[in-house]
Amino acid sequence: MAISVGIDLGTTFSAVAYIDPKTKLPQIIPNGEGSKLTPSVIQFLDGEVIFGGEAEDAYNAGEEDCVATFKREMGETKPYCYIGGKPYTSEDLSAMLLRHLKEEAEATLGDTIKEAVITVPAYFYSKEREATIRAAEKAGLKVKKIIDEPNAAAMAYGLNHWRENANILVYDLGGGTFDVTLVHMGKNGELSTITTRGNHKLGGRDWDARIEDILVARFENETDLSIRNDSELWSIVSGMSEGVKKQLSAQNMQSVKVSATFPDYGKATVTITKAEFEENTADLLDRTGALCLAVLEEAGLTKKDVTDVLLVGGSTRMPQVPEYLQRMFNKKPLSHVNPDEAVALGAAIQSSKANEDYTSLVLKVVDGKKTTDRANFGLSSHVSVKAERKLNSLSMLTLRETTAHAMGIIAINDEGNRYYNEIIIPANHPRPVRAAKKFRFYTSPHSNNELAIYVLQGDSEDPLDCQITYKYVVTGIQHVNRGEKIGTVIRIQYSYDVNGVIHIQARQEDGTVDLPIRREEVPEDISRFGRPVTSENTDQGFNVGLQLGTRSGQSVVHKYKPVTFSNVKWDKYDNIATHPSGAQFNEPTVHVIANEENIEFHGYNISEMNEGVRYSIDPSDDFEIECDINTSTISPHPGGYLEISLGLISAHLTENGGDILLDGASVATVAPRFHLRMSLTDGGQYEVEIDGRAVGSKFKASKSRVDVRFGFVHESHYCQLLSHAYISDISMMQAVGGEGDDNPDTDTWND
Ligand code: AMP
Repeated sequence: MAISVGIDLGTTFSAVAYIDPKTKLPQIIPNGEGSKLTPSVIQFLDGEVIFGGEAEDAYNAGEEDCVATFKREMGETKPYCYIGGKPYTSEDLSAMLLRHLKEEAEATLGDTIKEAVITVPAYFYSKEREATIRAAEKAGLKVKKIIDEPNAAAMAYGLNHWRENANILVYDLGGGTFDVTLVHMGKNGELSTITTRGNHKLGGRDWDARIEDILVARFENETDLSIRNDSELWSIVSGMSEGVKKQLSAQNMQSVKVSATFPDYGKATVTITKAEFEENTADLLDRTGALCLAVLEEAGLTKKDVTDVLLVGGSTRMPQVPEYLQRMFNKKPLSHVNPDEAVALGAAIQSSKANEDYTSLVLKVVDGKKTTDRANFGLSSHVSVKAERKLNSLSMLTLRETTAHAMGIIAINDEGNRYYNEIIIPANHPRPVRAAKKFRFYTSPHSNNELAIYVLQGDSEDPLDCQITYKYVVTGIQHVNRGEKIGTVIRIQYSYDVNGVIHIQARQEDGTVDLPIRREEVPEDISRFGRPVTSENTDQGFNVGLQLGTRSGQSVVHKYKPVTFSNVKWDKYDNIATHPSGAQFNEPTVHVIANEENIEFHGYNISEMNEGVRYSIDPSDDFEIECDINTSTISPHPGGYLEISLGLISAHLTENGGDILLDGASVATVAPRFHLRMSLTDGGQYEVEIDGRAVGSKFKASKSRVDVRFGFVHESHYCQLLSHAYISDISMMQAVGGEGDDNPDTDTWND
């Protein structure tokens, strides 16, 4: 009979557990060597692949082609290592390890493994969770569910120590990561995660590094060698630090003598005391403490409301950890679970259960912050904790996990000058959960209407303080033109599934069919989302936007309507910014910053707004602009037009196109979409090219300065030309209801 297992795929160790059919309790499945834990280490040796203890010994002995701690880069597409010239990603290595764990467990049990629940750190983003699922599938495992490590540990603990209304703080300090999670034991064996925080750059390795610092200083003092500046000497000391840490962590160990043999010197011995170790690492503990307090604050609880602190992760074996937590919470932390096994045991419990259904989004706004309404959890300081009991059977225990990271998208604020994180699903919300939100999108009759969605994980307003997890492009959007009521509404549905993986769906207006969506690589340079929208310029497109408002400038009637300049090639032979007359380009009048490839307009003078961007150049300057223009998007504003001029060359274009004039005479009639090149060279030579074809040229020397103008004028409205480029693909992502609208649209849909 095929069985289900729980797998703790750890950074340092992994373990597999299942529900023993006789006892009906979770139990670790020993590996081929009879050990409950398998070091997460792989050695590639003469075409053979070795896992676990043997590979770890080789790794510690410094042998080649050994890999460890690869979980740290889960989700990265770049290779974690090259073995014999072949690249391996963290996902590839995890798949190999999982296959090994599966095969060993099958051999031990004499049975096949049908499916698995696999654990991941609570802070893992969607991409890392997806990579874990793919690694398991490559290993021939069907993934029943991904659950968070602290939750798994809490399940293993809760089975034997259930106390209704208890708030358990799971303190999980591993080798490279720290997670703190508050779980609540509710009625009827319902275990709910309330809040979780983590620091994936804080763990046992930081304690090792502090020991290393002390040892290096001490050995340098003892030997007069310059150890820190010599990689060979340094690696001798650094290789000992974890062992020394473990020795100092042993019971009643007050100091440790450390001996090392250095080439050309010989043996030296130094001593390190437990007190020194603790003094030098106190700040690290304080960092974990600060996160514990943050978790409580988010849950609206105080230290007193914590019923117990549960220790998980190998680094909680350092006595300073429980001592610190005892001082902080005034109670002895629980060490009822074996920190190395609890996670796999909890995963095994979950493997015997059905997955949960989607919940609807519940939002509450407190002091402008989005928080989850947790009344449902029965969280209150006044509820008394019931007596401890053992749950009679696994079926009495259920787990509801939460989202560790808020999920949002990059949108543009109401003023159109800043990118911000429009949060759709807040952090600490029960999952799986779905939410839909409406966005206004401005379509064009002539182009493929594609909408880019940058998915963020994190709660900061600033997109760059969040993780940009995915870029999706929604396609197949129909053009909508309703005169004054411009734009179409795209409903976007966001889901966190049971595994904490994000899914995106989109529908247009009231449509009942999902629009096609493709996933694209998130661009490497995302710094533009941190800059004001007004100074943006990209290689892909150049938009001049139109903002319509009343004359008082107060109530904006419409948002931006772009005239698209795509495939921009701006060639400029002199740099106006450094021109002797460049001073006139200072704010608030328009000035230009240009290099060999790009040109940006900055600043504008409000009094000139209804004329658009205008600046002048010295007639002896060579100047050329080349771009694609599309004026069809003016169409919702009858009477609006785009004005372009460079000295003798001018154009007045409406939504239907228009004439290009040279010194007042038409040289070409253009459709709304065309490619324009216009230049002024050789002290007065004007040239116009349309769609790659020269349509006119004329020489006219001038002593006075020459105007270059891109203007956008609308008959009945005060018009504002945004004198900048911004990202065309997300410029229209403005939330219906406005920025910071906390009311979720509730009409989600099923797949
Ligand atoms: P984990 O990621 O949970 O397997 O934890 C691994 C971390 O626990 C590593 O940094 C180990 O050095 C640390 N660790 C394991 N055992 C001990 C111990 N007895 N004393 C101190 N640290 C330990």
